[in-house]
Amino acid sequence: GATIGILGGGQLGRMLSVAASRLGFKTHIYEPGANPPAGHVADVVTTAPYEDEAALKAFADAVDVITYEFENVPTSALDLLDSVKPIRPNRKALAVSQDRLVEKAFLSELGLKVAPYAAVDDDVDLAEALVEIGAPAILKTRRFGYDGKGQARIMAPEEADQALKDMAGAPSILEGFVEFSHEISVIAARGQSGDISCFDPGENVHKSGILHSTTVPARLSPAQRTDAVLLAAKILNALNYVGVMGVELFVTSGGLVVNEIAPRVHNSGHWTQNGCVIDQFEQHIRAVAGWPLGDGKRHSNVEMLNLIGDDVDRIPEFAKDGAVAIHLYGKTDVKPGRKMGHVNKITGPA
Ligand code: ATP
Ligand code: MG
Ligand code: MG
Repeated sequence: GATIGILGGGQLGRMLSVAASRLGFKTHIYEPGANPPAGHVADVVTTAPYEDEAALKAFADAVDVITYEFENVPTSALDLLDSVKPIRPNRKALAVSQDRLVEKAFLSELGLKVAPYAAVDDDVDLAEALVEIGAPAILKTRRFGYDGKGQARIMAPEEADQALKDMAGAPSILEGFVEFSHEISVIAARGQSGDISCFDPGENVHKSGILHSTTVPARLSPAQRTDAVLLAAKILNALNYVGVMGVELFVTSGGLVVNEIAPRVHNSGHWTQNGCVIDQFEQHIRAVAGWPLGDGKRHSNVEMLNLIGDDVDRIPEFAKDGAVAIHLYGKTDVKPGRKMGHVNKITGPA
């Protein structure tokens, strides 16, 4: 059978591996860090840095198609890999989502609403941006941010200096604070024939910048639900995308505002494992392998709760509830802020 190469061996790579193996594929993980969560379930693991050209070449030779669980794969590694085997989703999707400034420009050009934004490289840029955008605002590094890391809120102009220090000289972007009633995300998939299937939008709650829970159905009018799905489809088509993408949205009185896109399976799509016949992980593997997409229809209402740090101590409690599906990532050392697993509670039929 074919082998699917996955860049990144975290929990997303692990759950992709399980889905791929269920469809009869072999999986080969490439991960710089030792003892990756995906290592326990994949067929082959390469432990090497992204600078190791020989290891990258051997990985690319050994697989049939390359996908990834995180978007910060260095460009040099991608250049080498994609000269050997197809990378899905494609390089354009990675380039757009690796840099918040490029991402915002891309989304605006598509006619989608985003927060007001400006590039910030120094104190002069920041002062100008604050005049233009106003406070409150959020300063974010353009690259490498996740789980709210690399961000500083500026509630009033006097907080600008500290916020800039927090960026430690990294190229940044200032975003106006969006007044949203709640946050949702669409997990959307596009197959190689261009067909698109979106999962029902989920409603997301963040705590300390980290996703805390996703609930389906989200509080949305029928028109908002349609808007969410159509705008996600527009993004995927514009990128000639193949695979699953997470599209994070703010719900505002003026319509849906796109926060960011992630060219991969997404934490806010974990509910699909127990709410749909075909979940986001299988859907992604189907797309990158050139299979028809599965039906993304939701059969149940679900509440997904992330288990962060010592939340895992609650497993015995969850295990007593027969309506709760437990998903642990096989991480041994518990650290504050570390995603250890999640649970999906079925709250009723859809
Ligand atoms: P992720 O782990 O989802 O990749 P991230 O580190 O890339 O997170 P963002 O999604 O940009 O960070 O921001 C994290 C959260 O901070 C958002 O989900 C939202 O709650 C809040 N936030 C970010 N940008 C804005 C904004 N412009 N206006 C209002 N709230 C915002
Ligand atoms: Mg992000
Ligand atoms: Mg986010």
